[in-house]
Amino acid sequence: MKKIGILGGMSAASSQIYYQTLCELTLTHFGGLHSPNLLLRSLDFAPLAKMMHEGRWTDIAKVLNAEAISLEKAGAELIILATNTMHKLADDMMQGVDAPLLHIAEATSAAILDRNCNKPAFIATKFTMEEDFYLKILRDRTINPLIPNAAQRAQINDIIFSELCRNEITVKSEDIYVDIVKDLKQSGADSVILGCTEVCLLLNEENTSLPVFDTTRIHCEAALKAAID
Ligand code: GLU
Repeated sequence: MKKIGILGGMSAASSQIYYQTLCELTLTHFGGLHSPNLLLRSLDFAPLAKMMHEGRWTDIAKVLNAEAISLEKAGAELIILATNTMHKLADDMMQGVDAPLLHIAEATSAAILDRNCNKPAFIATKFTMEEDFYLKILRDRTINPLIPNAAQRAQINDIIFSELCRNEITVKSEDIYVDIVKDLKQSGADSVILGCTEVCLLLNEENTSLPVFDTTRIHCEAALKAAID
């Protein structure tokens, strides 16, 4: 099994889920006492989140690039960036790194097409819902996401950064997310992408009536598969 390098901490709440999921998937696949062969680099999210909201993407790219280089030096043979939003900087991050990056939007697109869906409701940070870096990958693969309206996007984003990234889960926020998904279903959504690695803390197959594409789990499944192949 290849050594997986996880660049995480963005947030720590979702990196915990990545580690737990990779452990569970590895044990299910190999049995016995097997556990994943991985390196987890967990960054302090506070300064990075501040930089995101100040639009200092070039500075963030430098941090991510230095960390990806360190992961490779430490032996990572395959790299995953444990956040959807930071994939905005995926190309810059991988400058000078030979190990492949397993892109979360590509893994998610493959999972959606596998289940013959093509109109997913898209729940993510404002950056991921409003900019092109992620949507283009979906649209290039004939997937046409339904984006929440401006007020809904603001609510979703606020809950991600003020609650979910701090591992805070409330019924009130769950209800808000469930109602937004219902609204998008009425507009024709055939599925839902949990397009932020913390959104699985609130949405799942039980509280939505649509097929759910959880990017955190899909990314872990793809990483394990790539590490075994
Ligand atoms: N983890 C989140 C994502 O998947 C949001 C936090 C971040 O911007 O890194 O987009």
